[in-house]
Amino acid sequence: MAERTLFTRIIDGEIPGDFVYQDEHVVAIRDINPSAPVHVLVIPRKPVRSLAHLEEKDRELAGHLLLAVRKVAEQEGIGESGYRVVINTGDGGGQTVPHLHLHVMGGTEFTEAGMRG
Ligand code: AMP
Repeated sequence: MAERTLFTRIIDGEIPGDFVYQDEHVVAIRDINPSAPVHVLVIPRKPVRSLAHLEEKDRELAGHLLLAVRKVAEQEGIGESGYRVVINTGDGGGQTVPHLHLHVMGGTEFTEAGMRG
C-alpha cells in the first residue's frame, strides 16, 4: 500500500490538526505556517495526490471541495471581504505535501502580484 500522507495522518488523528470544518468528503485545517491572517487548507479525505491526479470519477468531489472553500471562507469571516485560493500542483508548482489541498487565504489585501504590505 502507498505510504499515507501527512494529511491522511492528520485526518485520522495520528498527528494533531486545528480543524475548522469537516464533512463526509472534506476537512479543513489551519495551516501550521500561515502566510495570511486566515490561512486554511481544504483537503479531500480521499488522498488524491494532486490536482493533476484528479480524475473524471472525482467530478463530484471537485465540486464539493469548492463548496467547502466557500463555507470555510464564510465561517472565517472573509466571505464578503474576499480571499485567495491556491492549489500548488507538483514540484514545479511548489507542492510539498502530495495530497491535494486548496489554500484559502484572507484577512489581508492581495494585489495582482501578491500580498500588499
Ligand atoms: P503545499 O506547499 O501547497 O504542498 O502546502 C503544504 C502546506 O501544508 C504548507 O503551507 C505548510 O505550512 C502546511 N503544513 C505542513 N505541515 C502541516 C501540519 N502539520 N499542519 C497544518 N499545516 C501543515
